[in-house]
Amino acid sequence: MAGEPQADCLFCKIVEGHVPADVVRESETTIAFRDINPQAPTHVLVIPKAHYPDAASLAAAEPGVVADILTEAGRIAADEKIDDHGYRVIFNTGAGAGQTVFHAHLHVLGGRGLQWPPG
Ligand code: AMP
Ligand code: ZN
Repeated sequence: MAGEPQADCLFCKIVEGHVPADVVRESETTIAFRDINPQAPTHVLVIPKAHYPDAASLAAAEPGVVADILTEAGRIAADEKIDDHGYRVIFNTGAGAGQTVFHAHLHVLGGRGLQWPPG
């Protein structure tokens, strides 16, 4: 069923506590942890606890959780003090855009200069 944990999903395993993660925030619907291969001084992933393969499928099924993810991203940016200078939030969607984990996740990146447009 949509949103149910998937046995072969790394991020479902993090939600369930079966794979360790450096968790920085948690809410009723979301969990946020540091990326294992950080691309900036602050690089946090905010994910829904429910399993959806990408942002659009999450938005179609549970739009309120998309708002929760963005609210959490803002709080993380404030906690990490990257909000003054500016930070970036990204949902890579599809393998061609660099998505490697097919459980929706928002990258929160900051703490260095960020080029636009991204590669
Ligand atoms: P994406 O390429 O947009 O699908 O992002 C997946 C991200 O998950 C990458 O930036 C990885 O470095 C990160 N990642 C993979 N495994 C883990 C893990 N066990 N804990 C934290 N981050 C991870
Ligand atoms: Zn999952």
